[in-house]
Amino acid sequence: MDATSGQTNDVIILGAGLAGLGAGYALSHSSPVSNPKTNVLVIEAGKTVGGLAITKNHHGFRFDLGGHRFKTSKPKIEQLVRNILGDELLVVKRSSKILLRDKYFDYPLKPLNAISGFGIPTTAKIILEYSAGQLKKPFVNKKIVSLEDWVVRHFGRTLFNIYFREYSEKVWGINCNRICMEWMEQRIQKLSLGKAIKKALFKNNSRDMHTLASEFLYPSLGIGRISDRLKEEIEINNRILTHSRVVRINHIGNRIENVTTRSGADNQTCDHSGNEFISSIPVATLVQLLHPRPPTEILEAASKLKYRDLVIVTIMLDRERVTDQTWIYLPEQEIPFGRIHEPTNWSNKMAPQGKTLLVTEYFCFRGDETWSASDGELAERTISNLIKLGFIKRHEVLDKVVLRIPRAYPLFEVGYTRQLEKICRYLDDYRNLRLIGRGGMFRYYNMDHTLESGINAAESLMADRPELFDPELFTRALNEYSQTGTGS
Ligand SMILES: Cc1cc2nc3c(=O)[nH]c(=O)nc-3n(C[C@H](O)[C@H](O)[C@H](O)COP(=O)(O)OP(=O)(O)OC[C@H]3O[C@@H](n4cnc5c(N)ncnc54)[C@H](O)[C@@H]3O)c2cc1C
Repeated sequence: MDATSGQTNDVIILGAGLAGLGAGYALSHSSPVSNPKTNVLVIEAGKTVGGLAITKNHHGFRFDLGGHRFKTSKPKIEQLVRNILGDELLVVKRSSKILLRDKYFDYPLKPLNAISGFGIPTTAKIILEYSAGQLKKPFVNKKIVSLEDWVVRHFGRTLFNIYFREYSEKVWGINCNRICMEWMEQRIQKLSLGKAIKKALFKNNSRDMHTLASEFLYPSLGIGRISDRLKEEIEINNRILTHSRVVRINHIGNRIENVTTRSGADNQTCDHSGNEFISSIPVATLVQLLHPRPPTEILEAASKLKYRDLVIVTIMLDRERVTDQTWIYLPEQEIPFGRIHEPTNWSNKMAPQGKTLLVTEYFCFRGDETWSASDGELAERTISNLIKLGFIKRHEVLDKVVLRIPRAYPLFEVGYTRQLEKICRYLDDYRNLRLIGRGGMFRYYNMDHTLESGINAAESLMADRPELFDPELFTRALNEYSQTGTGS
């Protein structure tokens, strides 16, 4: 029989990644003194909080799940992160390269570097195609659906073939004509290769380069410090249950009554009732957990939302430093990983003195050859490729760690918006449920968007429940912090 947690929580937050923690933090700072008993419960399946934005510590070698830089154009989110981390935050200079056919290209591209990398004939062809495309634009009616359509229309076929096709297909694991244009537009307009190339080869508008800025913020002990600090703040007055997976979301009509969790080694189940729910767990999972079950067409739509998974292989080295780069991108299919970073270039506290580490990212699907390979095979694959690329020598290897991260990226396959809209319309009817976060909303969100989505949901809930929460208190807490420059 299920145990029951006893009290009814005012708010239950599902998932303690940055979205869930952001919501929990905002709510925890807005309980009026007149109502100190307002209770917020955060439920997390993992052993620790932080979700994708954690830092692993392996005998003093520290690494994120793929380097996470903090960069935002949202003052409130930057203020929050600066406030909770204070002096722990470093300002890191960004310098990244693309390694393509044995040549390093600057990222963002610089004109001379691009010309010397591609060669004059290819560069001339790219510029001609681009110019012809610009002239033809007003007369072309073909609907743009995929990443391929979008890039060819904006940059020409040559650039698509030599620059975009390989890396995009490596990251997403599907043909470029199946990768959705909306994603491409969002992503490439904001940062990424597209703007870099456009700037390098065609235009020089420095205002456009906002998101390619050369500096970012990073906690000296790794990105996981953001969630560690949020957790500490939430736990002053509220609770976070880790190692507790939500296995059922029980509703009567369009109102969620409680969630059932399974936790501990003995898989004990427990029901937690709540008045309001905020969910950051992947939206496709959420739909499947609803009990009674949603209509078949909603379950079918959920089953069509796909995710891309990730394997991280980290190699610890008896050597001071290997590169001077923030990231190195490796588009070629022959190299099994797509990106490398060296955490000691982000903060020298990320490894014991005189040692360093390289983190490689393999984009894959759960169950495919990469995902299913043994840890030993993956480590050997990584080491031999790093040697072949000239980064390391075998005798320098001290240790290795392999991690598998399911659902790292929502996969924006052509047609996904139809399925997502269907699900969102259905979930809209649940009056006490709010969706937040990257997987929770199925958006290509970075950490700042994710935190913002959690805070926005908390603020809309505060507005709906003024008897429980006072948004002014949260605003004041942020401002007080910024005046004293310390967290509590
Ligand atoms: C390789 C990589 C590199 C990245 N680099 C950057 C970067 O440089 N800068 C940047 O800003 N962003 C970066 N991001 C994006 C960033 O990681 C995300 O935007 C952010 O961490 C997402 O937070 P979230 O809370 O929305 O989701 P998640 O972190 O996925 O959190 C969801 C949480 O829900 C929990 N959960 C799931 N199911 C259940 C269940 N049934 N019951 C209970 N709990 C459950 C999960 O365990 C998880 O903790 C990167 C992402 C990846 C994958």
